[in-house]
Amino acid sequence: MDIGNKFSLVGLCDQAVQAYLRHGDITTAVQTCVTLNQWDTAVNLAQQQNFSQIEGLLSKYAQHLLDKNKKMEAVALYRKANRHTEAAKLLAQMAKETPGGAQKNPDRIKKLYLLAALEVEKYKTKTLQLQTDATMGTITTAQTVQSLITQDQSVASDKALESPWRGAEAFHLYLLAQRQLYEGQLEQSMKTALRLADYEDILDTQTIYSMIALTTYYNKFFMQCSKAFIKLEASLDVNEEMRTKFGDLALRIFTRNPPRDPPSKALPCPKCNTRIRDWSVSCSNCNYRLPFCVASGRSIFPEENTSLGSHGPDAAGVLSTGAGVVKCKTCRHRMYVSEVRKIRNCPLCHSHLDASASHFHDAPRY
Ligand SMILES: [Zn+2]
Ligand SMILES: [Zn+2]
Repeated sequence: MDIGNKFSLVGLCDQAVQAYLRHGDITTAVQTCVTLNQWDTAVNLAQQQNFSQIEGLLSKYAQHLLDKNKKMEAVALYRKANRHTEAAKLLAQMAKETPGGAQKNPDRIKKLYLLAALEVEKYKTKTLQLQTDATMGTITTAQTVQSLITQDQSVASDKALESPWRGAEAFHLYLLAQRQLYEGQLEQSMKTALRLADYEDILDTQTIYSMIALTTYYNKFFMQCSKAFIKLEASLDVNEEMRTKFGDLALRIFTRNPPRDPPSKALPCPKCNTRIRDWSVSCSNCNYRLPFCVASGRSIFPEENTSLGSHGPDAAGVLSTGAGVVKCKTCRHRMYVSEVRKIRNCPLCHSHLDASASHFHDAPRY
């Protein structure tokens, strides 16, 4: 003990810890690390030795990092300690606070939202595992209930955790629409951009509706275009100077082009069968929100390819949902087989899709 104190006094953390551990004094060993600001060692030690006060220790260390604005280090700490919801919350917060927002740093923001969503998925998998263990009698019900309550409290207190993929979806679609536009895929780009209107809680008005205005203009969808301009001119999120500019631009566009959309293909709504435009994001009759293909950005109509659909065995990393659509096993988002043929990783979450598996070869092109 004495020797431990001496090491500690001169700041020799590792040696002090070794000395305390030889005497089985974990508490003092951990406390010494904290006093000497060796948080990493403290947490490792507490985990190895099953130290009962590890929760409090983690919170203190995390706070210490946050006070110094070391958010990424705090995320790493939470991840190491398997505190997935804390890591997710912090990542989502970092995404929201990224300087420059969608205009300057869309790639970085998408990555942060994606990491947050993956942490929530890990948490969900573990919660599910806990429930299974409880049913199997591996652990006691009391334990499960307690851990679920603790976890539920942290989830309920944060909106980003309830629908963890929305942030990543919004930025993925925004980046995708831009790329399609630059590559000259005007129609695809418009379909992707129209979907951004679903994410007003994540993207700002100007980002969403200037992208919609631009792509609908190129496609001569002047009805959709005028709707976007109305948003841009009326929104208080857009500064006054820009609002005036949007107003002038709208005047020039719509004196020459009446606000009408050209005809387009109509497909039945999967819920109520009303025929809706193939670029629709939701059904005009029953409000059903159509899922979208993460590879192309367009809406998925289950009816579209029924006659051509393939039901081959599941490839690793994907779940077949029939009708030429596959689902990523990690993020559970869908995509048209025809769009993912050349893609090896999920366009949204980047996890590996086994495109060489038989399912992809069997699926006919359409
Ligand atoms: Zn409908
Ligand atoms: Zn995915």
